[in-house]
Amino acid sequence: MRQQRLLIPTLRDVPGDAEVASHKLMLRAGLIRQLSSGIYTYLPLGLKALQHIQTIVREEMDAAGAQEMLMPALHPSELWKASGRWDVYGPELMRLEDRHGREFALGATHEEVITTIVKDEIQSYKKLPVTLYQIQTKYRDERRPRFGLLRGREFLMKDAYSFDRSQSGLDESYESMYKAYHRIFTRCGLNFRAVEADSGAIGGTDTHEFMALADIGEDTIVHCPSCQYAANLEKAVGQLPAFTDTASKRSDLPNEPQKVHTPQVTSIKQLSEFLQVSPKQIIKSIAIEANGEPVIVLLRGDCEVNEIKLKNALNGTEFTMLSEAGIQQIGSKAGFIGPIGLQNAKIIADSSVIGMQDAVIGANEADYHLTHVQVERDLAGLAYYDLRNVTEGEHCLTCGHELSFAKGIEVGHVFKLGTKYSRSLGASFSDENGASEPIIMGCYGIGVSRVLAAIIEQNHDERGIIWPASVAPFAVHLLTVHVQDEIQMKLSTEIYKSLTDAGYSVLWDDREDRPGVKFNDADLIGFPLRITVGKKAAEHIVECKERRSGDQYELTAEQIIAHCQ
Ligand code: ATP
Ligand code: MG
Ligand code: MG
Ligand code: MG
Repeated sequence: MRQQRLLIPTLRDVPGDAEVASHKLMLRAGLIRQLSSGIYTYLPLGLKALQHIQTIVREEMDAAGAQEMLMPALHPSELWKASGRWDVYGPELMRLEDRHGREFALGATHEEVITTIVKDEIQSYKKLPVTLYQIQTKYRDERRPRFGLLRGREFLMKDAYSFDRSQSGLDESYESMYKAYHRIFTRCGLNFRAVEADSGAIGGTDTHEFMALADIGEDTIVHCPSCQYAANLEKAVGQLPAFTDTASKRSDLPNEPQKVHTPQVTSIKQLSEFLQVSPKQIIKSIAIEANGEPVIVLLRGDCEVNEIKLKNALNGTEFTMLSEAGIQQIGSKAGFIGPIGLQNAKIIADSSVIGMQDAVIGANEADYHLTHVQVERDLAGLAYYDLRNVTEGEHCLTCGHELSFAKGIEVGHVFKLGTKYSRSLGASFSDENGASEPIIMGCYGIGVSRVLAAIIEQNHDERGIIWPASVAPFAVHLLTVHVQDEIQMKLSTEIYKSLTDAGYSVLWDDREDRPGVKFNDADLIGFPLRITVGKKAAEHIVECKERRSGDQYELTAEQIIAHCQ
């Protein structure tokens, strides 16, 4: 395609509201434009990359035996009421009414719809197992849409659902999707890790998240560099033994534990009840004991990043403050912890709040660092979890190695649902003896548009995007330095024709812009190979440059053409 006629509105300046690299680069390279908060248009280049990801997803889903279909985005509320999620899902579910006053939801996910279809169309064990999938737009009224495509309110998801007659059948379907996910993310060029996740309220059994590793990721991964163990933080904390006997550690602390009047809390769940916040929010908290006062520092889901909620664990008083510098400020402003250098402050529960640990830790005890997020003891009556102890705990009996932490972007999620939806929506099958049983389900999601952003998050430099070949909008960027130069244009035309005839996707920069502008744009939009037709066109020599390695070399036009034949 000729760039002259293509809508690739590159920007020199970074748009002000974009915080992370992928968001900035997708705007700058002219891949997307925002229509409204969390709602984006894919411009031609962005759409091409998105389509390449979809092709990879389709190929691997089909190879795993899943069948593609397409379900509506508009769901009658009755379905969501039948499953119980009309109430449970909360404000994230987009709701609307039609002209007759009937309620609808915009699909945030499709368990209800797919289960209804299977209920109507599958009655016999002979039709099982089956796995169905779609690639479709989802709607979630995220409280805080941000980071461009990473957390949108309208986004593209691949969602698959498996239907089996037995638990072992579900295990096989799950395994098959799990393996397909590995192939998909590998082909997309992502550096990722599958981690055990928490099944939470849905109460299924196995569940794994696929995390693209990135510092800006919102999830924390706890993993063992030596054995296979990897879990998200929520799961890891849930797996830890809670200390109920804290006597052995009391000598470290300044105050006597009898001064504490809070109830004994031995689990994250109890802690969340005590503080009246969700367990998820607790995970993102630090409990600090300072000058004998137990203080819980919460970075709550409903706060801005730089907003911190403090709660005195003794009397329950809560207050909010802004913090740029994290704990130092909290310390001085709150008067609890004292200024930096707080001698009596201890971390007594874990945190995943970026930057905050360092502040506390730096101020405190040199040996508290991220891999040693340690809960000292229970001054507040809070149980604490010694992440260091995980290494001696369950999983690491075989390994004993110290755990590491990393940040990740959740790009995929696989889940053994069991019979939650088939029971509530009445999807059952009859077995060989005519007995009726609920169908056993699994669900499997990939954030296709989030994958696009995650790829860029992991593949860029200061000049722009560095596309993995598998998803690059074009394989080759052919750049003619001076389009008025007949010799350059003639050679470019020949090369363009032979490359495209040979099946390469080529974007030909035939614009009349200054060479510097064209080179900068080429680096910014970042296709794997740039071929420049310039000064040496008369000698039939062109310059090749590989975007990732930066390697440059000259080739003759004949070499390129011969390569294509
Ligand atoms: P998150 O924890 O990031 O909110 P989730 O656990 O709510 O995601 P799932 O319900 O597991 O998401 O949905 C399946 C996949 O859809 C996720 O693994 C993620 O890749 C993608 N996804 C979820 N929410 C969004 C969003 N707001 N924008 C883009 N992709 C999303
Ligand atoms: Mg979510
Ligand atoms: Mg999640
Ligand atoms: Mg999830």
